[in-house]
Amino acid sequence: MAAQIIDGKAIAAEVRKQVAEDVKALQASHGLTPGLAVVLVGEDPASKVYVKNKAAQTVEVGMKSFEYKLSETTSEQEILDLVQKLNADPEVNGILVQLPLPKHVNAEKVLNSIDPDKDVDGFHPTNVGRLWIGERTLVPCTPTGSAILAKKVMPRLKGVNAVVIGRSNIVGKPMAALLLRESCTVTIAHSQTEDLPAVCREADLLVAAVGRPEMVKKDWIKPGAVVIDVGINRVPGENGKTKLVGDVAYAECAEVAGAITPVPGGVGPMTIACLLQNTVTAAKIQKNIKD
Ligand code: NDP
Repeated sequence: MAAQIIDGKAIAAEVRKQVAEDVKALQASHGLTPGLAVVLVGEDPASKVYVKNKAAQTVEVGMKSFEYKLSETTSEQEILDLVQKLNADPEVNGILVQLPLPKHVNAEKVLNSIDPDKDVDGFHPTNVGRLWIGERTLVPCTPTGSAILAKKVMPRLKGVNAVVIGRSNIVGKPMAALLLRESCTVTIAHSQTEDLPAVCREADLLVAAVGRPEMVKKDWIKPGAVVIDVGINRVPGENGKTKLVGDVAYAECAEVAGAITPVPGGVGPMTIACLLQNTVTAAKIQKNIKD
């Protein structure tokens, strides 16, 4: 039987609707409109599109959007000074510094200078630690979105055998931490894992975050498993054009899986929706408001 297709676009719209309701509730109860500041340094075309989309969706859900567009030649100190200003600004509840930063800027130093309670990307070491020890925190957006998609088709994650392929700080590791928090039995696989197909075949829930086009094949999938494909890879398509594919060979894996996310239209749309959700959470953490 063909797999259920997990519609990330529709589920992201549901998340944004919920965020808009949460914003209204915060305005009514605390007179608070959360604000998100996005800092863009340089002219990277993809980054410009992301920042534009983030700003538009921030306004759509009723939040305040602050955009800082700095030139490619901005010094590291000027960026650090801006982050300090935003850290101190009560109108700003979330700060996102768009990556990549120009080569002369130490990205780690800039990200670590963000107030952890305003770190809506969830990359600050304090938030990484809070996630692993189970405290209330800001969790990276892509893993959060992936977990929401998995829960749509697998509401009870307790005891589920989950395999995450990839151990990056922005996807693989926080994904594993989130699934552990849901009481899954988690295996983290990576480039040094022996017999990866056999490891994947044990998974009731398989998350692929590798960056290798269509690496996961049909015979890696346990029949009926839920497959979440985080990968976004641009490959040659028809008529000299390019197309996007995931880390999972979608068509063949959909013949075996119970449910699967497409690329595009799966995890991708969830990331900005979860960024908006994180901005509301950040505002609540700063004001000590319970969920
Ligand atoms: P990284 O390159 O930082 O990490 C890739 C991980 O995959 C590493 O842990 C690496 O292992 C592992 N890996 C590489 N090759 C293999 C292999 N042959 N077998 C097993 N494991 C392997 O990538 P990211 O985590 O940043 O991103 C992963 C994918 O997710 C990319 O396609 C990216 O574009 C996409 N992405 C999508 C987002 C979205 O919004 N949907 C957001 C962020 C990323 P090792 O550590 O041993 O090197």
